[in-house]
Amino acid sequence: AIPLVVAISTAISAQKGLLIRNRTAFEESRKITAMVFDKTGTLTEGEFGVTRMSVLQPGLDKTALLSTAAALEQQSQHPIAQGIVREANKRGLHLPEVSDFQSITGKGVSATVDGATVRIVSPRYLQEKGIQLPQDAYGSEAETVVFVLINEQLAGYVALADRIREDSREAARRLQQAGIKVYMATGDNQKVADAVAKKLGLDGVYAEVLPDQKVNIVKDLQRQGQFVAMTGDGVNDAPALAQANVGIAVGSSTDVAAETADIILVNSKPTDITNLVEFGRATYRKMI
Ligand code: ADP
Ligand code: MG
Repeated sequence: AIPLVVAISTAISAQKGLLIRNRTAFEESRKITAMVFDKTGTLTEGEFGVTRMSVLQPGLDKTALLSTAAALEQQSQHPIAQGIVREANKRGLHLPEVSDFQSITGKGVSATVDGATVRIVSPRYLQEKGIQLPQDAYGSEAETVVFVLINEQLAGYVALADRIREDSREAARRLQQAGIKVYMATGDNQKVADAVAKKLGLDGVYAEVLPDQKVNIVKDLQRQGQFVAMTGDGVNDAPALAQANVGIAVGSSTDVAAETADIILVNSKPTDITNLVEFGRATYRKMI
């Protein structure tokens, strides 16, 4: 008989687009009953484009709003930040100097510009500070909206959009066919989360999740008796990847996520996970 480990590694090498960092991960992957996907950069491309801007403070215009926002976001690695900086560069804007840059974990960024405190934050942050969301912030499209505060006053907002990865729908559908519940967890707003979940036909969605809460989502599912896989790309996904029974990082991940994961999706294609699960189940059926 062929030793089990040889059989498994042959099976694994037959797989494309997967880097298996933990030898038991292949065997474990066939037991998955629940899959939690991060949204940005995992189910979506993670490339935000600016779709709208609105100025809410007298004496400010869209150019000033964008150049101030981009000056802060130059210091951040977040996909939202990269989208804002790209837009400012496209328009050839001159960016003001910033100092005292800080990121507000899971909620945004803050810095000093021309002696004023500028923050770019999530809708959740506004709610926490008791600041009313502008009526028109959310249009008919599901957009990611970030708000610019100058000295704690709402000065405007920037709306951005990202694209769902081409094979995310197929990946979710085939996992569900294999009897796996498919969930999404995101720090983004509920409206965007619901729109993506609906397009992909997911079983459940967790929105406006703080970075340290993703791990609790995994723990809760485990407490319910689920064998949980988590797929993500960000630093904020790393604790959940570690907690999950199978941790999967997309190829474009930050180093921290990649180092924590059991499996890496080299081509960042969600269907490569589906292949792994289907293949793993078929392989073990044959061996038993
Ligand atoms: P996700 O990876 O799901 O986007 P994060 O925890 O990174 O979750 O971010 C949650 C929310 O915090 C974002 O949707 C955004 O509203 C806000 N945020 C985070 N980083 C930034 C940033 N650099 N600029 C503006 N907003 C940010
Ligand atoms: Mg992400």
